[in-house]
Amino acid sequence: MDITPPFLAILRRAPLMLIVLALFVSTGFVWSGKGSGQTKVKQESTVKPIVKITSQPIAASVNSSSSFGEAIGKNITFRNELSWMFGGKQQRGWSLYDLLIAKSLDTESEFDSGGFVSTLSAWQKREGLNGSGVLDEVSLMAMISQWQADRLKDRTPAQPDQLLTAPATDFYDQERFPELRQVERNTYAAYKKMIAAAIADPSLKLAHTSSTDLAPTEQYFRIISAFRSREYQEDLRRKSPNAGSAGLAVNSPHFTGRALDLYVGGDPVDTKDSNRAIQVNSPAYKWLVRNAERFGFRPYFYEPWHWEYVR
Ligand SMILES: [Zn+2]
Repeated sequence: MDITPPFLAILRRAPLMLIVLALFVSTGFVWSGKGSGQTKVKQESTVKPIVKITSQPIAASVNSSSSFGEAIGKNITFRNELSWMFGGKQQRGWSLYDLLIAKSLDTESEFDSGGFVSTLSAWQKREGLNGSGVLDEVSLMAMISQWQADRLKDRTPAQPDQLLTAPATDFYDQERFPELRQVERNTYAAYKKMIAAAIADPSLKLAHTSSTDLAPTEQYFRIISAFRSREYQEDLRRKSPNAGSAGLAVNSPHFTGRALDLYVGGDPVDTKDSNRAIQVNSPAYKWLVRNAERFGFRPYFYEPWHWEYVR
């Protein structure tokens, strides 16, 4: 089967187009690619791509305008089309991880910009990779390895005295039984601090009853699931045998009481790409990617709702 994406095919046939594309990018005439309005594009074109391109040395392997434009073209294609494996399942593209990728690269450049290419190229070289500026399978896997390495390492199950029973009002299902509302003590304290910060952030417009409590009508940031005993996890596995190894791990971080599934939109814990696309675009998720680390929480890249307290 010919899986050459049409965009790449066009690029191969028309090297002149690449140069034109590169020129457009370097002068900032590029759409944000996120369906944002004219105003945003104008703002971005005045600051981002120009600054990034001129202020950063472009790696040797992407120094000609044609290979530079080609790298941009490949990133645009791979973002939606790259085929890779995770958790025994075929995955497609990396658009769901835009925010985490940008965080790893410490860049605000859009994926379809020259700034992204040069920042990625520099990152690749630091990682001992090819420096192509193209987010291909090898580079994506290297990035995922880092994300996975940043997660909770000690998965010793929580002892009863390490757990507290959080109030039902903290939970997405406010009728959840007490035995399913247990959280490791330090994790809970950090969660409450984080929620207070989210409530205090006017951009999130979270409905709240006090500076530390969400209103009963507010779903975002509520806990879907925290501590899960081995027995409970086994039960879940029996009920949803198709959840896969990524979904309901045998050695789950939820055993520690330090993993919280938080509501970030959509269907709360569904890994379908279409559902995760809703979640990663929610203000709640974007806020968590920017802020959770301050409170000791790190993401599990594949599940936008799953956060682990690592301190
Ligand atoms: Zn989880």
